Amino acid sequence: MLKLYEKYLEVVDKYLQKYFEDQKPFIHCKEGCTYCCETGDYPFSRLEMEYLMAGFVKLPAEIQGVIKKNIADLLNRKPQEGKFFHKCPFLIDKKCALYERRGIICRVFGLAAFDIVDGKKVVVIPECGKQGLNYSEIYDSSNSTVDMEKFKSFNTGEILPCPPDLNNMIKKVAKGIDDLEFGEIRPMLNWFEKQS
Ligand code: SF4
Repeated sequence: MLKLYEKYLEVVDKYLQKYFEDQKPFIHCKEGCTYCCETGDYPFSRLEMEYLMAGFVKLPAEIQGVIKKNIADLLNRKPQEGKFFHKCPFLIDKKCALYERRGIICRVFGLAAFDIVDGKKVVVIPECGKQGLNYSEIYDSSNSTVDMEKFKSFNTGEILPCPPDLNNMIKKVAKGIDDLEFGEIRPMLNWFEKQS
């Protein structure tokens, strides 16, 4: 299944490249900026997590130790209930320790996506857009809205759906991987909690 997933990732990366190209006028990502990995809950499916951890066991013992400690510290701070936004435990010295194996959510970092909230389609911009970075050109901080007319006037491509809809959409265009099962999706940290 992981081999099939690797094939799938090739399609995903190619697919997303087009979005990053199309939306260049809004993208202000640059090397060394780790904003997206500094605060989030990082939803990962079972399959994405298996793939990430298959890379983890190959990391040098010292790096594995740092990651394990990061995870343990986070689990200690994690509240029993509600969302918990935190720095990703795989981010070390402002670099992803498993960049090639990062999840789908990590691959769309920086792009705007649409989501369905209370039956309505809403555009969600990356958090950095509220700090003057990606998509800040179309973000109105006075009422926390995205100006879609302005977005269209830049003549860019479509807005992506959020994962997991994105996964389903890409599965449709990727040949031979229809039986790829992602499994349950959980915030990353939940995968490390002891299951009762
Ligand atoms: S897995 Fe890597 S890319 Fe994804 S949030 Fe963590 S550090 Fe960032």
